[in-house]
Amino acid sequence: MHFNKISLGICAICLTTGHAFSQDVPKPPKMVPEMTEFWEPELKTVATPDNAAPSDAVVLFDGKNLNQWASTKEPNKPAQWTVNNDGTFTVKKGTGNIQTKQSFLDYQIHIEWKVPANITGKSQARGNSGLFLASTGSDNDGYELQILDSYNNRTYANGQAGSIYKQSPPLRNATRKPGEWNVYDVVFTAPRFKDDGSLFSPARVTAIHNGVVVQNNTILSGPTQYIGLPAYDKPHGKSPIKLQDHGDPSEAISFRNIWIREL
Ligand code: MG
Repeated sequence: MHFNKISLGICAICLTTGHAFSQDVPKPPKMVPEMTEFWEPELKTVATPDNAAPSDAVVLFDGKNLNQWASTKEPNKPAQWTVNNDGTFTVKKGTGNIQTKQSFLDYQIHIEWKVPANITGKSQARGNSGLFLASTGSDNDGYELQILDSYNNRTYANGQAGSIYKQSPPLRNATRKPGEWNVYDVVFTAPRFKDDGSLFSPARVTAIHNGVVVQNNTILSGPTQYIGLPAYDKPHGKSPIKLQDHGDPSEAISFRNIWIREL
C-alpha cells in the first residue's frame, strides 16, 4: 500500500511536469553498430557449382536412373518412365504418374522440362504434365504447378504453364517454344494443420519460370481440383512430389536436372 502511494505520487509529478519521471529512470545504453550484429551461429557453407545442384541438395534425377521415383499407382514399384541416354527422361504414356520415394515439407526445387518440337494439339491437350508440389492422397491429389506447352497456345489463364492449376494464373507467360528447355525454380511452404485437423496456415508457392517470377508467394486455397473449388479437407504433413502422366495424345514431356533443398 505504501509503495502504491509513492507510485501514485511519482505519477502525479510525471503528469504535472511532463518529464520529471523520465529523469529518474536509467537511460538505455547508446546504440553502437555492433549491438545489432548477429555472429552466432555461423552459417553453413553451400558450394554452388555452375550448372549443377548446390552441394546440400538432394538430387532427384542425376541423368542416369529413376531410383528416387516410384509409380504412383503402385508405390512399391519403380517408376516406369523412359530414361534416355542424353541425361533426360520422358513420360511413358499410360504408365501413370510418378512420385518421389522421399517425402518433403518446406523446400526449394529445381526442375527442367521440355515439350517435344513436333508437339501437336491445342489448349490443355498440348504437352500437358504437372509438378505436384505435394502429393496429398490418391493418384491425382496434390498442389499442381502446371506444365504445358503455352507457347502460342491459348488456354484458360489459370491452366497454362506456370499456373497453380485452376487457382492462380502465372504473372507472365514465360514459356519457351517446343523443343527448348524450360526451367522451374520453386519455393513451397506446406500448409499446417491444428490438432483437430482444421487449417492453421495455408500452403504458399513462389515460382520462377525461366528467370521470371510467375507466382509470388501465392497463397493456395487447397489441393488442386479439376472440378469444383479447392479446400483443405484432409490434413497432411510431409508428402512426396509427383510428376503427371496426363495422358493426352500429344504428350511426351521430358525432364532433366531435378534437385531439391529442404528448408
Ligand atoms: Mg497438368
